[in-house]
Amino acid sequence: MKAFMPQLVYIEPQALDYPLGRELKEKFEAFGVEIRQTTSHNQIRDLPGDHELQKYRVAKSTMVVGVRRTLKFDTSKPSAEYAIPLATGCMGHCHYCYLQTTLGNKPYIRTYVNLDEIFAQAEKYIEERKPEITRFEAACTSDIVGIDHLTHSLKKTIEFMGRTEYGRLRFVTKFHHVDHLLDARHNGHTRFRFSVNSRYVIKHFEPGTSSFDQRLEAARKVADAGYPVGFVVAPIYMHEGWREGYLELFERLSASLKDLHLPSLSFEMIQHRFTKPAKKVIEKRYPKTKLDLDETKRKYKWGKYGIGKYVYPTDDAKELEETLSSYIKQFFPQADILYFT
Ligand code: SF4
Repeated sequence: MKAFMPQLVYIEPQALDYPLGRELKEKFEAFGVEIRQTTSHNQIRDLPGDHELQKYRVAKSTMVVGVRRTLKFDTSKPSAEYAIPLATGCMGHCHYCYLQTTLGNKPYIRTYVNLDEIFAQAEKYIEERKPEITRFEAACTSDIVGIDHLTHSLKKTIEFMGRTEYGRLRFVTKFHHVDHLLDARHNGHTRFRFSVNSRYVIKHFEPGTSSFDQRLEAARKVADAGYPVGFVVAPIYMHEGWREGYLELFERLSASLKDLHLPSLSFEMIQHRFTKPAKKVIEKRYPKTKLDLDETKRKYKWGKYGIGKYVYPTDDAKELEETLSSYIKQFFPQADILYFT
């Protein structure tokens, strides 16, 4: 899996008022990437492509360099208090990805260059809650690690949180391009999580992301660099042979990490879910997907903004939780299981 390089870059004029905006412009010019000016990302209607699917693919390799105007952070339960907005969109093609609906018809990648303003806002939230710790999640709207070799905005955020007394950062990734983050002065304030899954799920539903082995190699590197490490098993999916599939996942994980010192290893578990609008979009964008989106096999759970989700029925969810928790306890007795949702 090669590190991401956009095929097309849009730059909002205000982005050039910030050092990172200018730096990215120079960088993409030097790489010979096509750059277009845009007054606002909302005006990017003319992405190349003859039909919607083609435009969608182009959008996934398009980067918009812009300014984050809304500085009110969203909440991010259960893993953190706030979502810190560094970027939106992702070049991965995971069939189940919830960004397909949350980003609507703007699936391109936006990166924000007004980092100092974002950090100032984060500091306000930290002040309001101190002496309580305030946790910020950086991967709510993108896979930030996957683009950070270009922007280094995650690296700056890691170092910013490292300097705070009460701020903590966390994010999750399916990419292995972590080398530039290894020397960041994190001060133990950033939890580096990797998304892992059974072979079946990775093979059928996660095109355009790093392989399981690459993610594990990256996890070893960041553990060596002293980061607190975690794994997010998501989405947990009941495919044929799922018990054996997930058992094998933990066997491989444990074999690969056994010689490492992982004092605060954590696991989070998220069962597969989908909404009705998501199902429509997934079927359009990935018409051959094997992802089972049959509502009659699921339980409806009321959600925010009146859009409910289809999750596994209570007994199935309980079985998933108990089975995976037992594997974690078997292979990683010292680890914390943070939640199953
Ligand atoms: Fe979505 Fe994460 Fe896959 Fe990117 S890597 S497409 S953010 S699930």
